[in-house]
Amino acid sequence: ATPTAILVGTGRGAQLGVLIRGPEILESTRRVDTVVLDKTGTVTEGRMRVVDVWSPDRSPAMAGVGPSAADDANHLTNAPEVLRYAAAVEALSEHPIARAVAAAGRAAADPDPETPLEVTGFVAHPGGGVEGLVRRAHAGLAPGGALNTRRVLVGRPDWLAEQGVTVSAEVRSAVGQQEEAGATAVAVAWNGAAGGVIALRDPAKATSAEAVAELTGLGLRPYLLTGDSAGAARVAARAVGIPQEDVISRVLPADKAAVVARLQAEGRTVAMVGDGVNDAAALATSDLGLAMGTGTDVAIEAGDITLVRGDLRAAASAVRLSRKTLRVIK
Ligand code: ADP
Ligand code: MG
Repeated sequence: ATPTAILVGTGRGAQLGVLIRGPEILESTRRVDTVVLDKTGTVTEGRMRVVDVWSPDRSPAMAGVGPSAADDANHLTNAPEVLRYAAAVEALSEHPIARAVAAAGRAAADPDPETPLEVTGFVAHPGGGVEGLVRRAHAGLAPGGALNTRRVLVGRPDWLAEQGVTVSAEVRSAVGQQEEAGATAVAVAWNGAAGGVIALRDPAKATSAEAVAELTGLGLRPYLLTGDSAGAARVAARAVGIPQEDVISRVLPADKAAVVARLQAEGRTVAMVGDGVNDAAALATSDLGLAMGTGTDVAIEAGDITLVRGDLRAAASAVRLSRKTLRVIK
């Protein structure tokens, strides 16, 4: 092996937006035959947008519209209130869902500007959701201050149920309908019962379909791996040309690495591409970890290669580069 060729190879990589951690990485890049793609932020933009806010006593309402004249401003469960309480808690999380909900909350007309919400006891549960104690400021003006504090949870209905929250059939069906349509849906609960649903969408990046075609053309088999619902995963996979049998959904962050290990146990050499904290273990387990440069520091730390521009096509560039560089050496 000539060190010069490898230096030229890694230098060429930098020009292509592929930062390679060390010369030995080129060899593992050359050998990969399987590529596991995280969905949110890797295949998709990772910029979710709230498209619907629903509560049982109100027909679906677009976020941002604000309370209609028909709304009872004091009622606890109308769509604007669902968004307001969810946004207050999600403002403390970095998750793509959280950013979208917080942004929609900021964009919506505040149904109750007199009493801003304060959040204490925030906890993020990776792969599940978030919780916090939400208190209306100036609650002293109302009798029974404790009643003005609600334990608010936002997340997957199954996770909410595990936390002891009652999730009605109506709420489950609202979530199911959104997921069938390819949206990501989270339920919002306070004081022990789910009272609303927020639906979000996250389009595939413009370059992802081409990247999947390039990776397939190089002889790699792409999989889509996500903690999101089967519906949202199906829609994203279809958009980029990954067959449905290679879609793995509803995988908890801790289990993403196990999926990689299972493919390795089948004798495959696995590249993992991801961007999130929830991908770090899978990136470390894989034979080749590729982190989106637009992703979290934790993912970048765990990866062997950084795709600087967050463009999935750079993963194919890395494979082509490794093959060319090592062919020269041999
Ligand atoms: P992905 O693999 O697509 O990046 P995650 O593992 O981060 O997804 O999340 C899986 C699921 O957990 C989400 O689809 C959502 O239902 C729920 N979830 C995670 N974090 C949050 C959050 N901050 N707010 C609401 N729901 C969340
Ligand atoms: Mg992600």
